[in-house]
Amino acid sequence: MRIQLRKYFIQTITFVFYIVLFSCTSSKSEKENEPPNILVFLVDDMGWQDTSVPFYKEITPFNRRYHTPAMEKLASEGKMFTQAYACSVCSPTRVSFLTGTNAAKHRVTNWTLRKNESPDAPQDVLDLPQWNVNGISPVPGIENTIYATPLPQLLKDAGYFTIHCGKAHFGAMGTPGANPLNLGFNINIAGHAAGAPGSYYSEKHFGNKDKNNVWGVPGLEKYYGKHIYLNEALTREAIIALDSTLKADKPFFLYMAHYAVHAPIQEDPRFFDKYVADSLNVIEARYASMVESMDKSLGDLMQYLDEKGLADNTIILFMSDNGGLSAVGRGGVPNIHNKPLSSGKGSAHEGGIREPMIVKWPGVAKPATKTSDYLIIEDFYPTILEMAGIKNYTTVQHVDGISFVPELKGTGKTDPERKLFWHFPNFWGPKGPGIGASSSIRKGDWKLIYYHADRHFELFNIKEDVGEATNLAEKEPGKLKELAADLGNYLRESKAQMPSYKDTKKRVPYPDEIIQ
Ligand code: CA
Repeated sequence: MRIQLRKYFIQTITFVFYIVLFSCTSSKSEKENEPPNILVFLVDDMGWQDTSVPFYKEITPFNRRYHTPAMEKLASEGKMFTQAYACSVCSPTRVSFLTGTNAAKHRVTNWTLRKNESPDAPQDVLDLPQWNVNGISPVPGIENTIYATPLPQLLKDAGYFTIHCGKAHFGAMGTPGANPLNLGFNINIAGHAAGAPGSYYSEKHFGNKDKNNVWGVPGLEKYYGKHIYLNEALTREAIIALDSTLKADKPFFLYMAHYAVHAPIQEDPRFFDKYVADSLNVIEARYASMVESMDKSLGDLMQYLDEKGLADNTIILFMSDNGGLSAVGRGGVPNIHNKPLSSGKGSAHEGGIREPMIVKWPGVAKPATKTSDYLIIEDFYPTILEMAGIKNYTTVQHVDGISFVPELKGTGKTDPERKLFWHFPNFWGPKGPGIGASSSIRKGDWKLIYYHADRHFELFNIKEDVGEATNLAEKEPGKLKELAADLGNYLRESKAQMPSYKDTKKRVPYPDEIIQ
């Protein structure tokens, strides 16, 4: 009897063991095969220093000023990229993100809004080229657009539920690209042609009290008059959309593109007082409250993912679309806000193009790590497709971006001599360091900026001189020549649009036509 009981006990234990083993193996392989959810958290006009997370080698006064606890948490769970680049203004970055194409090629080189109208300020010296003022188009035959296969379309085709929330700013009013639903998004929350909100306040109907205001944020009527700041309304709507994804039982791609922290500089009352108490002037306090409000949204979304058990299978990519407002001043204090970087939005200097970037990829990217390998916004396109496991895809456009998945996996590094390019044959705003029509190249530690109007060069060693204070163009003729040749070749190959001179009607020469 005892022996029988013992035998029965052993059989039962063995059976249970196999059941447990089988269920573990099966749930593991199921999970491995499950495509990850992808959350892109794109902030507007947020500078490299507008956070309590230090992206510089040391903690700066700006890191002490701002409070971004959710970003701190994200950085502790993910990998920081200290040299992540975008374009210096909104639409070129957003179109590069959607197409994987460099701005020199997609030709949406400045920001878009009205059909067939350029926002470029009139110029004394240059006639500016006919760039793609209408932005991206998912269909051919729309004038002044880049016809392309948008990233969310490929994700949607592969079975993702794709959500657009916030600022779109992809195409001009009255063109197909203005509506995110035409670009492969299943849901569009509050996105349209305009690149700024009429107002952050629900009491102001987010800018819609005047029906003719092109900046009025669409689709948030239910929040009108409810004392809910725009960032909060967008976050609540994003969570409602995520709930609907759970019901659909599909992986999600959430493009959470806040209007914040773009102008108008309007405080979020939930966070404003403490910055006033910190003795900031009123505009700086308003701005700091907008930064913390944006961060609160990130924290709320991360908390939602935790609560729903989604965090372990969700990749989060945090990025900004251009440098912080500084070159033209904010609150009467010009050109300091991205320090130690020089200048800000609209500038070819680092302050205009270097962004705070963090990627959390659970189980893949080592938490609390940091890399100084550089990358640029068009790299997101092939990276996100690789993350989603989408290998065989075709695109109308040529994809320039290079996947940074190997960097995240720890299986590869950026080529130390990789060349990055910017092309901005435009004028964004008033004068300031690095402002003006220009083309630039980054290669290794070096960066060359070529200004179209007066054909002058700035050559910086970014590693030694991150603030771009010392122009080495005369001191380093060999490096100047090398980079001018690389840049000239790229502009020619890309058929980049160059301005011409008003007086002679001649095209601005390529940089290597000047430096030979
Ligand atoms: Ca922007």
